Amino acid sequence: MAQSLLDGIQGHYDVVVIGSGLAGLTGANCLAKLGHRVLLLEHHYQLGGLATYFKRPGGHIFDVSLHGFPHGMIKSCRKYWSKEIADAIRQLKDVRFLNPEFQVQTTFDRQDFTRILTDDFKVPASQVEAFFEHLRGMNYYDNDTRTTRELFEEFFPGRSDVHRLLIEPIAYANGSTVEDPAITFGIVFSNFMSKGVFIFQGGTDLLIAKMTAELKANGVDIHRNVLVEKVFLEKDADGKPRVRGVRVKSRRDGSEREIACGAVLSNANIKNTILQMVGEENITGSFAAETRAVRVNTSSAQVYMGIKEGESIPHIGDLVFTSEAKKFSSQELVDLHTTSRTYSVYYPDTRPHTKAPRYAIVTSINQQWEQWNKLSPDEYAAHKARLIEESYVGLEKYIPDIRSKVDWIEAATPRTVERYVRHWEGASFGTKFEGLKVSMELPNQVPGLYHAGSVGIIMSGWLGTINYGVIVSAKMDAYLRSRRNAAAE
Ligand SMILES: Cc1cc2nc3c(=O)[nH]c(=O)nc-3n(C[C@H](O)[C@H](O)[C@H](O)COP(=O)(O)OP(=O)(O)OC[C@H]3O[C@@H](n4cnc5c(N)ncnc54)[C@H](O)[C@@H]3O)c2cc1C
Repeated sequence: MAQSLLDGIQGHYDVVVIGSGLAGLTGANCLAKLGHRVLLLEHHYQLGGLATYFKRPGGHIFDVSLHGFPHGMIKSCRKYWSKEIADAIRQLKDVRFLNPEFQVQTTFDRQDFTRILTDDFKVPASQVEAFFEHLRGMNYYDNDTRTTRELFEEFFPGRSDVHRLLIEPIAYANGSTVEDPAITFGIVFSNFMSKGVFIFQGGTDLLIAKMTAELKANGVDIHRNVLVEKVFLEKDADGKPRVRGVRVKSRRDGSEREIACGAVLSNANIKNTILQMVGEENITGSFAAETRAVRVNTSSAQVYMGIKEGESIPHIGDLVFTSEAKKFSSQELVDLHTTSRTYSVYYPDTRPHTKAPRYAIVTSINQQWEQWNKLSPDEYAAHKARLIEESYVGLEKYIPDIRSKVDWIEAATPRTVERYVRHWEGASFGTKFEGLKVSMELPNQVPGLYHAGSVGIIMSGWLGTINYGVIVSAKMDAYLRSRRNAAAE
């Protein structure tokens, strides 16, 4: 009989991790280091989830989500991954904002933002200081019902230009709007303001290769091209449901199997996890309703431009937030025809190890699933072509001969996100705030089933998801130990 691609997977593990995004990878690594036997399953042929990259002819390599994360990544990577990974994290020192209201160049940290707000925006220093101090004191557990708009109005009344400077980069980083709870802005913005914006030098390919080597060294059994279709439950001695295992399907040959385990960590979107993999019949009606009510966050479109080998482009900044909108609006930022585009410019020092110096530019545009999902094939192709053209036109202001330097260009959309990571409505940034509570309460509904991944805006982005993976793995360790102790008694 022909061998199935699933044959190498054992019959039982302590933990099955569904998905290899940064939360899944980190959770798997922590649990393996704590001595658990871990199986990591990824439906794609590549690990990393949205923290990914792809190669194209002509020696091009593109990073999908390596645009910037807070300084806290250094500590998290050193503690939960390796010193080598942490040591490769570098600051992006040239962040620019170019729009009809202002032109700003900054290192994007508290000191520089204080200078910009006081010198350029003429806000009294005491007001700026009070704002930063207030943010530092914000706490997830406070019962704060203010929106980000209300927070801005409290500290900078009537200053829509200041509001724009504050929200625009965070809206790009995690899809948040001025109508989201103020805490979601406060925590994420404070994280960046501590020391600025950082990236991993060497590129996402090198980062994921190092993480994979670390996982293997710690004994994690990794299988790609394997889709988890279902999480199975059983009844415990008290008749309560608990995790028994998962049903998986090989993406290559379609073969299926069941794998038993003591606990599951799902890194899939929280709605996919509960509504599709567990099923509403296995949770209480109120929890099902709460899950259905969770709003997923926005999605993204991107244009990837590869510069010909041997060509160079001038330094125009590392991360360039551009917009032609006269005033900022969260709605305009995600509109199909938005004029807001962020250019991430990858100079040769992004990958110093490559033989020939290479440049790439990635344009990021925040978008909504519904607007892209309803397009016919012809409309879809036309809108992708439009994104590419608008990206060129926008860049020509800073690099007039950009078209002659590019020999690879393509666009990705919310549909691309959905195809590659399967997230509900192609969400790039997980869920709105309410998703965090559902994610955290999942093990109370289904003992042994945990979720870690982008939720609640706060637990989103590279740093948020890595840290969430760590938090959840500690909870899973306690659960597995308590079950082991109970079985031994
Ligand atoms: C265009 C873009 C730009 C971004 N830029 C930044 C940035 O500059 N800085 C930053 O900090 N963050 C950025 N982000 C966000 C950041 O990339 C994500 O928040 C983070 O990587 C998500 O990690 P995660 O753990 O939630 O998992 P994800 O990356 O969402 O991965 C989930 C994984 O689960 C797998 N999976 C799902 N269902 C199944 C199943 N049934 N069976 C098996 N596998 C399954 C998926 O294939 C995927 O690999 C960006 C995101 C996008 C899309």
